[in-house]
Amino acid sequence: MSDLLIMTPGPTEVSEEVRRAMSKKITNPDLDPEFFDFYLGVSSKLQQVMKTKNDVIIMSGEGILGLESACASLIEPGDKVLVLDNGIFGRGFADFADLYGADVTRWEFPYDKEINIDELESKLAVENDFKFATFVHCETPTGIINNAGGITNLLNKYNILSVVDSVSAIGGVPIEVDKWGIDIILGGSQKCLSVPPGLTFMSVSDAAWDAVNNRETVVRGYYTNLQLWQNWYEEKYFPYTQAISDIYALDAALDKWLADEEIFERHNKIASAVRTAINESNLNLYAENGYSDTVTAIEIPETIEYQELNQLMTESYNVMIAASLGKFENKLIRIGHMGENCYEEKLYRTLKAFDHSLRDLGFDLNVELHKIFINEMN
Ligand SMILES: *Cc1c(COP(=O)(O)O)cnc(C)c1O
Repeated sequence: MSDLLIMTPGPTEVSEEVRRAMSKKITNPDLDPEFFDFYLGVSSKLQQVMKTKNDVIIMSGEGILGLESACASLIEPGDKVLVLDNGIFGRGFADFADLYGADVTRWEFPYDKEINIDELESKLAVENDFKFATFVHCETPTGIINNAGGITNLLNKYNILSVVDSVSAIGGVPIEVDKWGIDIILGGSQKCLSVPPGLTFMSVSDAAWDAVNNRETVVRGYYTNLQLWQNWYEEKYFPYTQAISDIYALDAALDKWLADEEIFERHNKIASAVRTAINESNLNLYAENGYSDTVTAIEIPETIEYQELNQLMTESYNVMIAASLGKFENKLIRIGHMGENCYEEKLYRTLKAFDHSLRDLGFDLNVELHKIFINEMN
């Protein structure tokens, strides 16, 4: 178990320097003035990753907390919210919006493709009186990345605020929050930044702050209320005690990330080589287009049971990959090649384990996946 390679699309592997950072001596984050400056410094590193001057908040809680906070803080009962849905997480936003009393309009797009910008444009031309719209940057369960800049460009034309779940994309693909005009973008610690699960972070534009502040009704939540995060630095006050050791870890991971000049190139090269290996074999990628460089979803051959495959891979080959979610459970397997997972030797080991496990289960693979992969890398 000790050398089990965690190749899931989050949580990802955590580097030794990040683990070490978690064991640093702590201070009292509510009272020590130095902690406020430290926190501000970590926020500014996140601003660099996301290319934004907007405020960045880091909250204690997993990625879902960010999604829910955005909905809780923006929505007043009856507000019109547009949910762009081309996957499990995209659709899930409708549940959060519903929970806070929004009047939800959900536009479903095919799940095996990125959201088609022309189609979105013609729909928006007909209906566009929404307070904000939500969409998912990378649909982790299916490995599809949406054209975030293209979508927000359209939303901005109609003054629709944007709430973007980029939990499994931030850090693995280039993101231009200010250039693309994203109002709220959400991230999590355990995906491409390779910090243990426990933190969510977001950037909030001036327009989004205005919407959060100019409400007629109170925010129905405390932990999810972004209003409380407005002047934390000036007032030296956090709404609750910060998870200081987790933030130490995030800081160390961001230093590593910012020093890594090849991060996007590596994600792209490795993801392409994984896709080539699958495409040259008698296996199938799930997606038709919009392949994410952070995660790949592969169809499980009909003769194979996911449980058996997974058990073999973990027990015999010490590699953990993931099933999918919702209606794709038992239909797709996913390899996460993001953050600390995104190294040639790890993908080689993963594809070799996958290749051997499929053969062990009687599937007649026509090529050797790991060999195609390594050829592509060279
Ligand atoms: C991982 C992830 C989240 C956070 O959800 P968990 O399943 O609880 O980890 C949210 N959105 C997306 C797109 C994610 O990949």
